[in-house]
Amino acid sequence: MKFIEEPSPNFDIRGRDVDMVILHYTGMPTGGEALDRLRDEAAKVSAHYFIEENGDCYRLVAEDMRAWHAGVSAWKGEYDINARSIGIEIVNPGHEFGYRDFPEAQINAVIALLKDIRTRHAIAPENVLAHSDIAPRRKEDPGEKFPWGRLAAEGLAVAPFEGDAKAGEAVSYDDALKALGQIGYDAPPGDHAAALLAFQRRFCPESLGQGFDRRTKAALMAGKK
Ligand SMILES: [Zn+2]
Repeated sequence: MKFIEEPSPNFDIRGRDVDMVILHYTGMPTGGEALDRLRDEAAKVSAHYFIEENGDCYRLVAEDMRAWHAGVSAWKGEYDINARSIGIEIVNPGHEFGYRDFPEAQINAVIALLKDIRTRHAIAPENVLAHSDIAPRRKEDPGEKFPWGRLAAEGLAVAPFEGDAKAGEAVSYDDALKALGQIGYDAPPGDHAAALLAFQRRFCPESLGQGFDRRTKAALMAGKK
């Protein structure tokens, strides 16, 4: 894998092994602006890698250091996600500036990078997550257009739900809500709406914003296994 070196000063000591990868979109009008920000000491944000729409892959922070990409976040009751994860910023203007499809060359580069990372770290497919999964109240990246199925086909991530929505008909509200937490989301009853949207973006984008519809419930029951 060929990297363009563009070091960021925004990192500190990791203190534990890497076992997660968090995918982001940059959410700024251009990739150049996002790259500048991730390398600006005053911004206090960074990621390990940055992938342009043409597939160019930049290395900003060494993998053995703790980059600052996750922010306030939680997964399966753990909070310091930066300490255990590698952060990948994928250029896309995002929902605020004209969210668009991720080009083929860019996704191919994400796949190549994940394969490369897995030669150095043991990362289970279920630990390759969206920023919105670990920070659902604040974040929606990389969003519902991200082709998780492409990563899943390579064994790199969990596939979106492709089963029969009918299986969700008999699932109770309580069981569906419980499954959200069992999968790993920070989704306390009564404050679960953002986590549900994050789940839909990641696992059943055709149900995004539809609440606990039968497809979402079927996907939740399939996902908690
Ligand atoms: Zn992000």
